[in-house]
Amino acid sequence: MTQDDVLVVGAGPSGLFAACELARHGIRVRLVEREVRRHRQARATAIQPGTLEILDSVGLLSPFLESAEHVQCTRLYSADLSELRTATFKGADCRCQFLCSLPQYETERILETHLVSLGGAIERGVTVTKLDLDSNGVLAELMHAEGGIETVHADILIGAGGAHSITRDSMDQPFEGATYQGHFLVADIAMQTTLPRDETSFVFGPDGLLLLAPLPGGRWLSFQDLEEAVETVSAQEVVARVEVRLGEQARAATIGGTWEESYPEGLLPSRRKGSAIFSSCFLAHRSKLPLLSSVCACWSRSADALRPTRSLGSNSAIRPARSRAGPWEIA
Ligand SMILES: Cc1cc2nc3c(=O)[nH]c(=O)nc-3n(C[C@H](O)[C@H](O)[C@H](O)COP(=O)(O)OP(=O)(O)OC[C@H]3O[C@@H](n4cnc5c(N)ncnc54)[C@H](O)[C@@H]3O)c2cc1C
Repeated sequence: MTQDDVLVVGAGPSGLFAACELARHGIRVRLVEREVRRHRQARATAIQPGTLEILDSVGLLSPFLESAEHVQCTRLYSADLSELRTATFKGADCRCQFLCSLPQYETERILETHLVSLGGAIERGVTVTKLDLDSNGVLAELMHAEGGIETVHADILIGAGGAHSITRDSMDQPFEGATYQGHFLVADIAMQTTLPRDETSFVFGPDGLLLLAPLPGGRWLSFQDLEEAVETVSAQEVVARVEVRLGEQARAATIGGTWEESYPEGLLPSRRKGSAIFSSCFLAHRSKLPLLSSVCACWSRSADALRPTRSLGSNSAIRPARSRAGPWEIA
């Protein structure tokens, strides 16, 4: 059995940012992640002005500004693309009066680089399989991908395992709430349109809603509701579906060129012209947790419990990590 000051479960944006903050304040931290390889899912792309303030306060604003698309406003369109309404970030009492749009794996890359510069690391292929409280903290059982079980004692555990959290399960804290009707589709696609690349566009057409937000490398994050009978969409179908909702504005681009180079080595997926790089059909939930009573654990809002249209993903990951991983909470 080994002793750690803080054990962080999960190296998504929440766990990584918490580990960075702990390392920055000189607190001994161990960050474990069950996945052996980095993912390539563009989720949690919108980083809001308030979150950029937090990143600025820890010296991380530059890499985010350099890597991301800058989104000045959200524009709502009717089916014929006439403008209905615009909401801008101008006047927000923040240094950056825009959103940064960046795939989650890029956020994780920046945070991991920062963690390494602070002397920390992600331990990949390590799954927390069991958690128990003892009189001085938490006992955690870790299963290593290459085999072997390890038991560690931590003064404090930060559960950042996402939607299906062992921390939440171990505290007997099920989500309470309801599931919205119907399925939704989120995807990372390459296509050309005349829509501005410094705006998020919502198109309200006869077939339903379409959201397009720019991603680095000329790509787009698309989000749409699906017809009642549709529960799954193949990767090849995704761009065609976006084009239908966008009408004349859409034209599938020849995929290739510079954005491929922006992919981390070994992560470039094989795909056909016009198909999605990442896509996922999902149900949307409105969920919350009963009040926490435990003294030794905290975790971020979970992935699947968030509505992508509210763009809370990375923001709800980084903000609590900032407040919970400071020495004022933990030291
Ligand atoms: C398909 C999909 C699409 C999404 N799209 C959007 C979007 O468009 N916009 C948006 O704002 N948000 C979106 N989200 C939500 C967003 O991804 C989350 O809000 C965000 O990832 C939360 O970050 P996190 O660090 O808390 O959790 P996660 O990113 O889920 O990270 C948790 C990490 O913990 C690891 N882990 C879990 N259990 C263990 C364990 N027992 N031991 C070790 N490691 C463990 C997991 O492997 C994972 O790497 C989407 C989510 C999904 C699933």
